[in-house]
Amino acid sequence: MGLVVQKYGGTSVGSIERIKNVAQRVVATKKRGNQVVVVLSAMSGETDRLINMANEIDLEHNRREHDVLVSSGEQVSISLLTMAIETLGEKAISYLGSQIVIRTDSDHGRARIMDIDGSRIKNALDSDLIVVVAGFQGVDANGNITTLGRGGSDTSAVAVAAALSADVCEIYTDVDGIYTTDPNICKQACKLDKISYDEMLELASLGAKVLQIRSVEFAQKYGIPIHVRSSFSDNQGTIVCKEEEGMEKAIVSGVAYNKNEAKITICGIPDRPGIAATIFSAIADKGIVVDMIIQNISAEGLTDLTFTVPKLDYDLALTSLQEINQGIGARDINGDKNIAKVSIVGIGMRTHANVAGRMFAALARENINIMMISTSEIKVSCVIVEKYTELAVRVLHQEFELAEETKNES
Ligand code: ADP
Ligand code: ASP
Ligand code: MG
Repeated sequence: MGLVVQKYGGTSVGSIERIKNVAQRVVATKKRGNQVVVVLSAMSGETDRLINMANEIDLEHNRREHDVLVSSGEQVSISLLTMAIETLGEKAISYLGSQIVIRTDSDHGRARIMDIDGSRIKNALDSDLIVVVAGFQGVDANGNITTLGRGGSDTSAVAVAAALSADVCEIYTDVDGIYTTDPNICKQACKLDKISYDEMLELASLGAKVLQIRSVEFAQKYGIPIHVRSSFSDNQGTIVCKEEEGMEKAIVSGVAYNKNEAKITICGIPDRPGIAATIFSAIADKGIVVDMIIQNISAEGLTDLTFTVPKLDYDLALTSLQEINQGIGARDINGDKNIAKVSIVGIGMRTHANVAGRMFAALARENINIMMISTSEIKVSCVIVEKYTELAVRVLHQEFELAEETKNES
């Protein structure tokens, strides 16, 4: 007998019919002799609907109330699934994050899990119940409801699995596993049998939304293997685990893209100590996370600075820069929302030369202009015009021969 944590994403619980299908899978897992904890997302589209309503009232609405609102989607799905399980003759109980307790910090909208008390879940499991937990939400030390950021149910599931020392954490979604790139935009994408935590962390942070980045950080920290698989089939999915001896060290193992960033350029900034600190403190004070940063070499005492921020924070970032520009004296502040970041990721890059050069040449052959570049040991990212994203992903997938063979087969 094992303890299994299963997480089902929005599409997998997107209708009553699908919720009934999930109930059957959960009950089948229990009948195979396992204890089962289910972590759920809201029904697909629901979180977007709730956020849109709040934005219609005020774009800069109260963050505490934001979390009270958007956490409600998961309350609906957990109760419906629990009812569906009971119609199949098994006993089940649903819990909100605040009932278990999933303790987080107070950073509303992107709270971090600090601690989970597994005792209430364990007692319920010992009473032969299936436990259904609301993903995406927690509660801070003052009893306020918090949420973990978009896609946060993945993190709830891994954290619950860690707290219970579960045997396995299965993430059920609408694709068969982790692919060499998003299978919904590149037909040649190949499913990976295994992928290391490090590569998955890069893919997730570069836009592959199949797993929330914090879920991979948690899994790596506590050594929990994640099995990503489809809720629509019984196919074996992809195991996200520690880098193993013999795991193929592909030069490039995946291509990711992110259309959720915008670029801001500040031109003609006086090049003196403290200016960058002033600019990025003003942005950070608004809670905005900056991604890529490029500063040009200065000419005649002036320099240009370009950086990316989440598209959602673009207007706020521009306004806050305009507010402080009197103190800085930059000639112009402008930006562009129609950009995307395409990235290649692979552990093998550490030991191979000219991977970046091949990437740039492949994009150039399609006349795709590169606006910004950033690299790390195992990734190269380029900012391009948004409308070329799909083309760039397919071209890079082909350039690095990711469709050639089934990856990581031993
Ligand atoms: P869920 O609602 O189950 O949490 P998500 O929409 O958050 O599902 O994540 C699954 C989606 O991630 C897929 O439908 C796919 O379009 C996208 N995706 C992006 N990159 C990848 C990748 N490398 N492998 C698999 N899926 C990917
Ligand atoms: N419902 C939340 C979202 O849409 C959390 C999740 O699905 O993981 O972001
Ligand atoms: Mg998701």
